[in-house]
Amino acid sequence: MRLLVNDSQSYHVEWLVTSEQSQSDVTVRFSDGLVLSIEPGRTADSVELGPVAMVEGLVNAHTHLEFSSLPKPIPTTGRFTDWIRNVVKYRRENPELTSAAISAGIEESWQSGTTIVGEIATVGWSAADYAKSGFKGIVFQEVLGLSSERIQQQTELARSHVTGNRIDSRGISPHAPYSTHLDLVRQSVEIAIQTNCPLAMHLAETKAELELLGTGTGEFREMLIDFGIWNDTRFQTPLKPMDYLEVLARAPRSLIIHGNYLDDTELKFLASQPQMTLVYCPRTHFAFGHSEHPWRRLIELGGPVAIGTDSRASNPDLSLFAELQFLAARHPDVSHLALLKLGSSHGRRALGFETDSSSKTLADFTLIRLADSSQGRPQLELFGPANQSCGTMINGRWVWLAPDLANQVLNP
Ligand SMILES: [Zn+2]
Repeated sequence: MRLLVNDSQSYHVEWLVTSEQSQSDVTVRFSDGLVLSIEPGRTADSVELGPVAMVEGLVNAHTHLEFSSLPKPIPTTGRFTDWIRNVVKYRRENPELTSAAISAGIEESWQSGTTIVGEIATVGWSAADYAKSGFKGIVFQEVLGLSSERIQQQTELARSHVTGNRIDSRGISPHAPYSTHLDLVRQSVEIAIQTNCPLAMHLAETKAELELLGTGTGEFREMLIDFGIWNDTRFQTPLKPMDYLEVLARAPRSLIIHGNYLDDTELKFLASQPQMTLVYCPRTHFAFGHSEHPWRRLIELGGPVAIGTDSRASNPDLSLFAELQFLAARHPDVSHLALLKLGSSHGRRALGFETDSSSKTLADFTLIRLADSSQGRPQLELFGPANQSCGTMINGRWVWLAPDLANQVLNP
């Protein structure tokens, strides 16, 4: 892995696109990790990057890097709990792969244009896995459990993760309603309030989850019995995703992962809570064959939506850029500039990487090579099927460039 030093360099690009502006034919100058200036046309000392758009850095708001060594997804076409059982089996059989998978996942993220990652970590990881790779993002420690002993032990794990010195950017992830007692979610929220850290929780992912919460029956009940953690008093009181949303709303910020089956009342509640963000994982959602995702309804209601890839256990790769291309192809009436916001500023804000307007934002950018730039309309073109991500800049430094651009930058 190589960091290309580019202090005080300037680049000429066909388009510069951020949440606030879209400009063509400009030179962007960087210094000390910040954008120093944007000038019209090509300045004499700039490096020519050719037909590319430099866009606000893509943010993958949800993944699990521990599965990044999987060459292909675990089959998603059967019952959801079959997939969960296979994920648990894979994790149990391959504990030695975790560190290498995290490094590979960070490298793959960079090589597809991703700058910031919302990462869920379980067991077997070390701070060095992230530090040595130059990771930028939040490491959410996953906690889960249904028994009172387990709730106590996992609460301690959450507390030591966010108050310890192991890693800088940290959060807590109560896993999901079928694996995590509502009391453990409450404890996680208390710690989040005390330490001002973000939370991420999988919620309303499947119809089977709603069935378990509502009536204590279905495939999740079978799975919990097989895992030896079923208890007849558990899931006796009917619950809904709203019960979890109301608890999570107390945290300084929370990411609601998937939300595939949130109803309209729950979406309206989410829209009224600016500290909460729904994270939609388009290709994973598609792979499981779920009903249509409510992301457009939430946007209509004024609520924030960010985008995630989820992990290689359910997705062929970790490319957030490919998620946006997938959405662009299926929703031709949505502007690519609007899609860019979901894939950049919304994720950045959800994870707590936004800065206020009085301070300068460290430069995180993604380069997109435009296959056909003749139309000159980024709102229609950014995520066209033939475009490719070709560079990733984090804090004003290139962490990855396609070989021809690396050559341009090193030998201007
Ligand atoms: Zn997930």
